Amino acid sequence: MGKLIFLVLAVLIVWAVVKSYANSRRRDQAPRTAAPEDMVRCTHCGVHLPRSESHASGEKFFCSEDHLRLHR
Ligand SMILES: [Zn+2]
Repeated sequence: MGKLIFLVLAVLIVWAVVKSYANSRRRDQAPRTAAPEDMVRCTHCGVHLPRSESHASGEKFFCSEDHLRLHR
């Protein structure tokens, strides 16, 4: 009887560990997939960067204000 209780407890512990591991993995992955951002290409030097970090001039994007100014 004692052996059966031990077995049930062991299964419950393993299940709890696996479940918490799966939850923590899901939490880790969430921020990466939450906000996929457009990548744009600097018209001057060709470097790729996120749209939010780029300097836009009409339809064209630049990696820095220097390259934006050089293109004008
Ligand atoms: Zn550039």
